[in-house]
Amino acid sequence: MDTLADLARRVSACTDCPLHTGRTNAVPGEGPSDAEILFIGEGPGFHEDRQGRPFVGPAGNFLEDLLQSIGMTREQVFIANMVKCRPPENRDPTPAEISACSKYLDRQIELLNPLLIVTLGRFSTAKFVPGQAISRVRGRLHSVGGRRVFPIMHPAAGLRRQEMRAGIEEDFAKIPGLLDVLRIQADPASETVRRVGEPSHPSYETGPPAQTPSLWDIPEPTAENAPVPPESDSVEQPPAPPEPPPGQQRLF
Ligand code: SF4
Repeated sequence: MDTLADLARRVSACTDCPLHTGRTNAVPGEGPSDAEILFIGEGPGFHEDRQGRPFVGPAGNFLEDLLQSIGMTREQVFIANMVKCRPPENRDPTPAEISACSKYLDRQIELLNPLLIVTLGRFSTAKFVPGQAISRVRGRLHSVGGRRVFPIMHPAAGLRRQEMRAGIEEDFAKIPGLLDVLRIQADPASETVRRVGEPSHPSYETGPPAQTPSLWDIPEPTAENAPVPPESDSVEQPPAPPEPPPGQQRLF
């Protein structure tokens, strides 16, 4: 799987887990190979299975609205899922199915090397931040194995429960600022950054920041600092993060 196209061909012919038996089309994922953001959802639903494309049903429409709210389009980002074939009746993917399919997502991450990974919902969030309810970790930047991961509730949750929409929109609104900082971190010598919403890749001067900001990252969970997960997800706001180390600037 040397390219995203190779990977998509492998996925389309894959029979490595029982989900292949019920699919109309596999849904490898789509987006530009130089996308700065990789969105990871859960798995294809009815519309995605029919079209072979990710996030094309009602949740996809909401995702496009959310992208538009921050000046972006889906053509600027890569969209993938934890499992590439539709679970029957839209049930949750099993751990065995997720495990069988993880080689494809892992390779997509390697090939894309995105600046930011946005996990949509509890399954993709659990891949990077295991053992914690998404309601506790959403809307905050996590540093995991050298990747920057930003969990957000799944758009479908915002469609099912109106009260969740505000939290999803609030978290999305943080993405442009995160990207600006991550671009500077990735290329500290550069004084040009591309703003979210600009056409593909033209850069323009924004002027150097007064001080290059440092990201305040949530450390990877350890036995010492891992909070006890709640019994169920809720819409509560996450607890206030601890103060950053001296010399670092907190973003959120
Ligand atoms: S879900 Fe993934 S592992 Fe299972 S058959 Fe589809 S592509 Fe293969």
